[in-house]
Amino acid sequence: MNFTPITMNTTGENKTVKYYVRSWRKEEKTIGFVPTMGALHEGHLDLVRKARETCDKVVVSIFVNPLQFNNPTDLEKYPRNLESDVEMLVKENVDLIYAPLPMEFYPTPPNVSLDFGKVSSVLEGEMRPGHFSGVGIVVARLFHIVEPHKAFFGAKDLQQVAVIRNLINDLGFDIELVRCPTKRETSGLALSSRNKRLSESGKKTAAEIFAGLQLAMAGLEEFGFEEAKKLARQHLEKYPEIKTEYLEWVNPENMEILSSTSQQKNPAICIAAWVEGIRLIDNLLSEN
Ligand code: AMP
Repeated sequence: MNFTPITMNTTGENKTVKYYVRSWRKEEKTIGFVPTMGALHEGHLDLVRKARETCDKVVVSIFVNPLQFNNPTDLEKYPRNLESDVEMLVKENVDLIYAPLPMEFYPTPPNVSLDFGKVSSVLEGEMRPGHFSGVGIVVARLFHIVEPHKAFFGAKDLQQVAVIRNLINDLGFDIELVRCPTKRETSGLALSSRNKRLSESGKKTAAEIFAGLQLAMAGLEEFGFEEAKKLARQHLEKYPEIKTEYLEWVNPENMEILSSTSQQKNPAICIAAWVEGIRLIDNLLSEN
């Protein structure tokens, strides 16, 4: 039987993680890393499987990072289920689970803040001030502790991928960023830990968000950015339970917002919308 070392809510765990990863590095093993906030689902597990396929050792972190929540209620209500998360990860044969205590991870509250410029000034960055600074700080700290060769992130959080790409390039981390496609329910609803808070009918309605994105993508060639976006809006307006916060075409590399005059070969359409008081995000890339 395999043994998965777990450092979970104990003191000194950063050192334990470093001990393992350094010994693996000495043996010239490649280390794949999947950072998560737990409440795991098939989307997370897909990243873990991609890491498993391409790396000798797989490390998964589970940490609900207070710094990236601009809304205290959202942080408080964020689903947490460490026991079942660990069970799922053990089944996936991961080599190390790192679930740090907040006090251990941030012995003193960080004073630094990170500004990713234009990449983080729109969409999520605009709607959730401080969010990407918090993401950048937690991911940089995790990278220092885990020292991975490759880090796996989901395209579900497309802007986050662009931010992490900047973090890696600008701060000189020697890490390969791997973007993995969004996993969905058969209805099209993007898997998300937040879906756990939706009712069955809420989930059904929320699947229309993806249907809207698909309509926009299907109409892009014929109608162009603005008119194709209208197709999605018209669809979403049929569902008053869906409250759209933003809907934009972007260049997925730098998150530049695209308008009717923009030239962009491989755009993505990004959305944030509320259903039953839950904020959901999704996107669709023209290439996958
Ligand atoms: P989170 O636990 O929400 O911070 O997500 C951890 C990682 O899993 C991030 O890189 C997310 O983009 C990724 N992820 C979340 N949902 C999905 C999904 N439905 N498909 C693929 N990756 C996902």
